[in-house]
Amino acid sequence: MLGIRRLVRYMKCIVCSFLVMIGLTTEVSAWNDFGHMTIGAIAYDHLTPKVRTHVDALLRLNPSYQEWVAGIAEQDKRKVAFMKAATWPDMIKIDVRYINDGNLPNGPDAGRNIGYDDKLMHRYWHFIDNPYSSDGTALPAPDIPNAQTQIVTFRETLRDSGASEELRSYDLVWLLHLVGDVHQPLHAITRFSQKQPNGDKGGNDVRVCTTATDCGGKLHRFWDDLLGTSEDYRAAMAQAKTLAPVEPKLAAISDEAIWVQESFRAAKQAAYATPVGPDEGPYNLNETYKAAAREVAERRIALAGIRLAHLLNEALN
Ligand SMILES: [Zn+2]
Repeated sequence: MLGIRRLVRYMKCIVCSFLVMIGLTTEVSAWNDFGHMTIGAIAYDHLTPKVRTHVDALLRLNPSYQEWVAGIAEQDKRKVAFMKAATWPDMIKIDVRYINDGNLPNGPDAGRNIGYDDKLMHRYWHFIDNPYSSDGTALPAPDIPNAQTQIVTFRETLRDSGASEELRSYDLVWLLHLVGDVHQPLHAITRFSQKQPNGDKGGNDVRVCTTATDCGGKLHRFWDDLLGTSEDYRAAMAQAKTLAPVEPKLAAISDEAIWVQESFRAAKQAAYATPVGPDEGPYNLNETYKAAAREVAERRIALAGIRLAHLLNEALN
C-alpha cells in the first residue's frame, strides 16, 4: 500500500518537473497552500454548528479525503480536512489523473459542473483577468467562465437542496479555494501595456527582486507567498489567530463582484505601485513596498476567511 502511494507521489513529481521544464505550470496559483489553509482555518471557526456538520460530511466525499486526514489527531481531523480541501484545486494541477485543459477556457466543457467525474483542471477558474492599462493599450474583456462566474455557479448548487451531495461536495471544495483566490489582488487583474500588449497574466510576466540575492521571481508569486510558505496546517492555524479582525461592515459584503473589484483596486494601488514599473522588469522591491503589500495581503486573507464562512452559513442553512 505504502509502496503504491510512494510510486504515485514519485510519478506526480516526474510529471510536475516535466511541466516546469516545458513552462506549462502555472501561471496562476493564487495564495499558496499556506494562504489558503489560513483562510480555511478562519472560515471553519466561524461556521454554525449545523453548517459545520454538513460541510464535514460533504468533504468526506472528496477523493483525497483520506490523504487529508492521514495521521491527524481525531479531534483535529474535520478542521484540517476543511483547510486542506481549500488547496485541492491547486493539488489537481500536479495530479497525473487530471488533464491540463489550458490556462484559458476553450469549448463547452470549460463551464461544465459535473462533480468529481470531471478530470479537467479548469485552471481558468482560478482568476478573472479584469483588464488594466496605464498607457492606453486596447483592453479585451475577461474570458468566461472565470473565478467570479464560478463562485456564482457553485454557490447556487450549495443552496440547492435538490442537488446531489456528490456535486455539492465538488462545488464546496472549489468554493473554499476560489473565495480565497479572488481576494488575491493579482487574481482579479491583468495589465496591458505597449510592451506587453497581450497582458502580463496577473503579474506572472513581471519580474521582481526582493533582496540582492533573490532576483527574477514573478511579481504574482511574491504576492502568493506574502504570508509565508509553510506547508504545516498548525502554522496556518496559528497565523489565522494573529490576523487583525475585519470590520463587520466589510465582512458582511456577500457580492463576489465587489470582492473582485476590491482586489482589482488593491492591485492597481499596491501590487503595481512604485517601484514596480510599466513592463516586465525586473524591479527592486523596497521595504516600503513589501510592508504595504504584507498589510494588504493580511487584510484580504482575513476578509476571505470570514466571508467564506458567511457564504457557507447562508447557502447551507
Ligand atoms: Zn487558485
